[in-house]
Amino acid sequence: MDATVFRAAARQIADYIVDYIENIRERPVFPSVKPGYIKQYIPSTAPQNGEPWSAIFADIDRVIMPGITHWQSPNFHAYFMTAQSYPSVIADMLSSGLGVLGFSWIASPACTELEMQMMDWLAKMLTLPNHFMFSNGGKGGGVIMNSASEATLITLLGARSKVLAEHGNDKTLITKLVAYASDQSHSSVERAALLGAVQMKLLPTIASDNHSLRGDVLREQIKKDRANGLIPFFVVATLGTTGILAFDNITEVGKVCSEENVWLHIDAAYAGSAYICPEFRHHLNGIEYVSSFNMNPYKWLLISFDCSALWLKNRDYIVDAFNVNPVYLQHIHQGHMPDFRDWQISLASPFRSLKMWFVFRSYGIKGLQNHIRKQVGLAKYFQSLLLKDDRFELSAPVEMNLVCFRLKGTDALNEKFVKLINDGKAIHLTPTRVGGQFIIRFMVSARTIEVRDIDFAWNEFQRQALIALTL
Ligand code: PLP
Repeated sequence: MDATVFRAAARQIADYIVDYIENIRERPVFPSVKPGYIKQYIPSTAPQNGEPWSAIFADIDRVIMPGITHWQSPNFHAYFMTAQSYPSVIADMLSSGLGVLGFSWIASPACTELEMQMMDWLAKMLTLPNHFMFSNGGKGGGVIMNSASEATLITLLGARSKVLAEHGNDKTLITKLVAYASDQSHSSVERAALLGAVQMKLLPTIASDNHSLRGDVLREQIKKDRANGLIPFFVVATLGTTGILAFDNITEVGKVCSEENVWLHIDAAYAGSAYICPEFRHHLNGIEYVSSFNMNPYKWLLISFDCSALWLKNRDYIVDAFNVNPVYLQHIHQGHMPDFRDWQISLASPFRSLKMWFVFRSYGIKGLQNHIRKQVGLAKYFQSLLLKDDRFELSAPVEMNLVCFRLKGTDALNEKFVKLINDGKAIHLTPTRVGGQFIIRFMVSARTIEVRDIDFAWNEFQRQALIALTL
């Protein structure tokens, strides 16, 4: 592909993306292909000779589209949403076009410096304490990672090396280390403990408390564990659990962590974006106790994957603990500016902060707040429809853009209902199980979603409920 072909191809792809997004409602949200479908379209080896762009472009519709689940469709209500917006797409294009890596300041100064500024901008938008910001001039700061899973793992490893240092660096104590999270925390939290070779205890939460992890539960468990010779060192509190968007009580949990000298990490992967709106910030009460805070702009803040924001109160626990400094990575400004290779697992990362810069400037804080509020409003609208129909019941309070509910009746009835809906392919859902109960999750997802899409989904729910209840 030479420059002339690239220029035309880039325009063609831009048109393709716009046509795709603007007409996405017309596509069935869920694909009909069977596992292994792509083999019939793709040869088993790469071509010996290059092919023309026209042939490659034609295969997007022929090969790829049949196997796409349309996450950006207003009829997609599964998982947690993943963000997409035009400024983010062009930032990804520019990042790829520049083809730079910012693993150290010298490797590409704009990469590091824009990331620092964007992490401070976002910290201010979320009203995080100043000690998380570079502009504060202390040991805090933020880094963009690829995922919340990586953020949990790296902070767990930082906390592990901190506690070992406090115990004379006796590595044999690793078997005594114990971390905690609620029984509603994401699987990536348990996985971080497995990867970090430490025990993780999932503490009970109860429905009457909206599945929030409370301080007394943590305090009791720490007391028991210390009595048994274990060393509590790390707690992950979740703001917005994956199942039903439950919120742990940060003030209570934080006080315990502070008394017990335990690192408190916040996993706000999904709900964190909402804290740009003052009406949701009460969940951040207790943030002063927190050692590290993570949220995924790639979920709800109109920045496409990958982009996960992690702030550290004291970066030394990670930067110094895992420092390897070969000659080929050293430079004369080392120590004056962050070298983000020391903050994360991978050495290299793309120029992700461009996405933040383009999106924050294109929408402004007000535009982003409008986006969050519009989606929350639509979830409340869906809730109001649901509450008028006495065949349904809510399974959790609706605070943001997730509605958790059930058909009154057995789990089997609800499983049948979800299967009917997903088989119908008009809309797409993923259920969950909380406290042993099967729950339907309705996520208000797409950036372009409107009242008519909620009405469309509600009609589908009513139609399939009639069938499920009479089968
Ligand atoms: N934490 C929570 C609360 C989540 O909901 C998710 C994913 O949905 C994750 C962590 C994992 O996110 P990531 O894919 O960025 O690792």
